[in-house]
Amino acid sequence: MGVLDPLAMLMPPPVERPLRPALFIDKDGTLIENVPYNADPALLRFMPGAGEALTRLQRTGIALVIVTNQSGLARGYFTRAQFARLQQALLQRLQQEFGVAIDGFEVCPHAAGAEGRPGCLCRKPAPGMLIRAAHRHGLDLSRSWMVGDILDDVEAGHRAGAGGLLFDSGGETTWRRSPLREPDAVFTDWAAVADHIEQALQTATGDARWNPHGTAPSNASTLNA
Ligand SMILES: [Mg+2]
Ligand SMILES: [Zn+2]
Repeated sequence: MGVLDPLAMLMPPPVERPLRPALFIDKDGTLIENVPYNADPALLRFMPGAGEALTRLQRTGIALVIVTNQSGLARGYFTRAQFARLQQALLQRLQQEFGVAIDGFEVCPHAAGAEGRPGCLCRKPAPGMLIRAAHRHGLDLSRSWMVGDILDDVEAGHRAGAGGLLFDSGGETTWRRSPLREPDAVFTDWAAVADHIEQALQTATGDARWNPHGTAPSNASTLNA
C-alpha cells in the first residue's frame, strides 16, 4: 500500500540501463478465456496459442506485463487475497507449462465512475497501469504495445504512447470508434501477434526512427496529468 510520491513519479527509473520495449497484455479474453469476475484458479483456460506465443516473444527480450481491470474487487465479488491466489496460479502455470516469466502484473481494483466516467487514473482505457509499469520496470513506452480484446485496451495503449493491438476474440460488442481507439493491427490468433511483434522488433534494430504505431496517433503528452 505505497503512497505515490508525485516527485518520484517525475524522476527517471533508478536503474541505469537501457529502457526495454514491452508487450502489455490484457488478461480476460486475451491471455485467458473470459470468465466474468472469476477468481477461481480451476477455471483458468489459456487462449489457444497464447503460451507458445509468449515463449517466442520472451526470447526477443521484450518485457511481458499483464494489465487487467478488476472491478470485481471494488464491487466486492472477490477479495484481494482471492485475486492474489488467482494471479499466483496464472503466473505459476505460465512458468511451468511454457517457461514464461512475466515481468510485471498491474491491476486496477476500481469500478468505472458514474455514467461510465473515469473513476480512477488506472482503469483502461486510462493509461495509468502502463505508465506505472514503465516506471517500475524501466520500459520504453514509445517502443511498446498493448494487446487486448476490446477497444478500451487499444485506447489505453495509445494514451500511454504505445501501440494498440486488437486481439479480436469477440469481447468487443459496442465498437465505439475514435482516433485513439483505432487499432494499429487486428489479430484473431496469438501466433500472428508474435509474428507481428517479432518482425517489428527485427525491423527496429538499428533504426532510431522506428516506432510501433501504424497510422493511429498517440497523444501521450496530453494525458500525463
Ligand atoms: Mg479483456
Ligand atoms: Zn483504477
